[in-house]
Amino acid sequence: MRKDPVPELLARATEALEAEFAALPGFEAEPGPGTGELAAVLKETARRLGENYPYFHPLYAGQMLKPPHPVARAAYALAMKINPNNHALDGGRASSAMEVEAVKEIAAMFGWKEFLGHLTSSGTFANLEALWMAGQLTPGRRIVGSEQAHYTHQRISGVLKLEFAGVAADERGRMNLNALEGELRKGDVGAVVATLGTTAMGAVDPLEEILTLKEKYGFRVHVDAAYGGYFGLIAQELDEPARRAYAAIGRADSIVIDPHKHGLQPYGCGCVLFRDPAEGRFYKHDSPYTYFTSKELHLGEISLECSRAGAAAVALWATQRLLPLVPGGNFAQGLAKGRRAAAELDRRLRGDARFDALAGGGPELDIVVWALHAADLRKASEQSRSVFDACARRGLHLALVQLPRSWLGPRDGAKNEEGTVTYLRSVLMKPEHEAWTGEIWERLSAATGEVMGG
Ligand SMILES: *Cc1c(COP(=O)(O)O)cnc(C)c1O
Repeated sequence: MRKDPVPELLARATEALEAEFAALPGFEAEPGPGTGELAAVLKETARRLGENYPYFHPLYAGQMLKPPHPVARAAYALAMKINPNNHALDGGRASSAMEVEAVKEIAAMFGWKEFLGHLTSSGTFANLEALWMAGQLTPGRRIVGSEQAHYTHQRISGVLKLEFAGVAADERGRMNLNALEGELRKGDVGAVVATLGTTAMGAVDPLEEILTLKEKYGFRVHVDAAYGGYFGLIAQELDEPARRAYAAIGRADSIVIDPHKHGLQPYGCGCVLFRDPAEGRFYKHDSPYTYFTSKELHLGEISLECSRAGAAAVALWATQRLLPLVPGGNFAQGLAKGRRAAAELDRRLRGDARFDALAGGGPELDIVVWALHAADLRKASEQSRSVFDACARRGLHLALVQLPRSWLGPRDGAKNEEGTVTYLRSVLMKPEHEAWTGEIWERLSAATGEVMGG
């Protein structure tokens, strides 16, 4: 493996940071355990961390896990020397400014210049803020999302005491517009959650059509693009319906995107954006602990969370400085590679009779799901689990997901059976996956041969 560049980069940056505070009188840190003891604990820590799946390696192609960029790791660790808190300017003066700049760059990706937004600890918390805002603006009205929306929307709605309704998804995992309109006709929907990049399969809800329904029925549109938000940068490489959805994203009322999913960041970095800056009025609080050292709305005033990792903002800022969020840039090319890997894996699956691909079509982003072609569906589910295990024994890590059986389409004269099937699932979100598609296929094919015989 190539030598990790981070320790050396970090050592140099640490010297530069220490020089920033060189004017301070020296002081003795409290004596504690010696470096020998620290080294022993860290060695044990490394051993424990070895118990993980190799998330950073292209043969890990299971869940949504992507290593942070080296610049993000180095910047995050560098910021730990300071450990800033972006709750208030007092606690995170420099890192708050960096957060404002980084968030502006994300908003610009959606075409927003005037907006309200900040980083959060996660996509879940970002969605909570967006649905909380919906509840403030349309109190007592229902939240509607598709059955394939992230499971936390229902839970968040419960926390906020807002009723949530899940509407059916089509055979490609996208929100069914007729089902949505059925809910809208009841006249009590306050907000619709449109997911651009569902967690299970990267499906892109028909946002443009949802926005057209908004004109007729009047409701807020919240876009959950926690996973798929960055794919607008490579919209020209997506299929037509997804491309149209991304073209409409700037017309949403709020957007959530997770830099810690596809934005090369360590965990602890979500982001919520509101199109109307005036919605900041709902965040007002009068904490006696928060010192107002600035006349501008500071980040603690527009966030439901109090302490937030300044280091997360620093890492994001540094990453976007190195890899700007622009079409055609290095970052966008990385997304395109994963997307091509998914298309290629899907193509191979469709050409092999041992597998059943989704009848509705191939992946919209970089997530592939497929089933084993077995005599009956219980058997197909069992075999998915067996292939999953057989792949793991070959060092290839995939994931499993329960999805409607009907999405496989009519097979072998069987009727449209109800219920779900266990599908195999692969999230090909690392740029390296493109070069590894052949190797992944070989291992999958061998594992399948072992399970199915032949
Ligand atoms: C991952 C994900 C979330 C939840 O985000 P966390 O950062 O894991 O809390 C919400 N929505 C979608 C579509 C996601 O993929």
